[in-house]
Amino acid sequence: MKQILNLIENERQKANLHDKINLIAVSKYVDENAIKILYNKGQTSFGENKVQDLKQKTEKLNSYNINWHFIGRLQKNKINHLIELNPTLVHSIDSYELALAYHERLIKKEKTQDILLQINSSKELSKAGVSPNKAIEIYEKIQLNCPTLKLKGIMSIGANSEDKAKIIDSFSITYEIFKQLKTAQICSMGMSGDFKLAIKCGSNMLRLGSILFKNIN
Ligand SMILES: *Cc1c(COP(=O)(O)O)cnc(C)c1O
Repeated sequence: MKQILNLIENERQKANLHDKINLIAVSKYVDENAIKILYNKGQTSFGENKVQDLKQKTEKLNSYNINWHFIGRLQKNKINHLIELNPTLVHSIDSYELALAYHERLIKKEKTQDILLQINSSKELSKAGVSPNKAIEIYEKIQLNCPTLKLKGIMSIGANSEDKAKIIDSFSITYEIFKQLKTAQICSMGMSGDFKLAIKCGSNMLRLGSILFKNIN
């Protein structure tokens, strides 16, 4: 854990683009015992990519003061379940239609939700997210028409490639959009395999799973 935090801090200082980088520990591969170990080391933000798993873990860990992030693909029929879990941040709003459906359900429950708009900056067909050239328009449309959704910024998954240049390209596209969005605070990008590049390209929120739980001590 400490090793990883040091790596993040070194890269942050080199890039010098943000005063702080938030770390979300992606716990989708591990059980609640591993989460408790990281929690006791001071890690309080965790991420899950399935609503059902998030529900189970929030129940098992309800005495812990954890900020839960939802980072996975969200089906419309799971929105109500997710709302019940009160996540700190939903990273994966990947279309205007999903935002609108979420907004309508939040109105009924008289709640609000902090979200990020997911952008498919690598343009891979297997990845969710709005296309980069529509991102700003959709972001503003959500802000205008979905007042229960509090947009905090954007999220993206780096290109799935061995080619560093392609990964950098996808992160740079995301960061350019982030900079154009005057009110955006969060640029969520970077996973175990590419977080150093993500920091170099302007990320201020990392989602690390395997590398953290492999180095749990
Ligand atoms: C699984 C996952 C991560 C973490 O992946 P690692 O490679 O294990 O760090 C980050 N973001 C999303 C959206 C994920 O699904």
